Amino acid sequence: MPEQLDGCLFCTLAREGDHVAKGGGFVAIRDINPVADVHLLVLPERHVDTFRDVSAFSAEESGRMLAFIADTAREAGLEDYRVIVNAGAGAGQTVFHLHWHILGWTSGAAPGMVGFR
Ligand code: AMP
Ligand code: ZN
Repeated sequence: MPEQLDGCLFCTLAREGDHVAKGGGFVAIRDINPVADVHLLVLPERHVDTFRDVSAFSAEESGRMLAFIADTAREAGLEDYRVIVNAGAGAGQTVFHLHWHILGWTSGAAPGMVGFR
């Protein structure tokens, strides 16, 4: 897979978006259409289509990606939160550049699992 894919929205946002956090080849941005009080997206800077291709990352890179997600949530003030990946259109994936949703609720408990898209 190319490092960057021409015309990919998240390749562009990884390069020049409004980053909540950045480091080690990953960035976090605010979801434009939040479905929780805090709704962040973590993206690798390099283009990978979906979670199905997660083996494109080395074990070390995968570990850093997971640590980046947890660090981003903590820095956003979240202790309790959900991390969700939609893998494939049938699961609700609409942007085909791997991204992890971080969802946190500051005004009460998280809703039940049913209802994420
Ligand atoms: P998914 O449906 O899992 O592919 O998630 C894609 C997410 O990207 C959705 O939650 C959208 O609201 C979000 N999104 C789409 N365009 C933008 C954008 N320009 N900036 C930030 N988030 C976006
Ligand atoms: Zn991309």
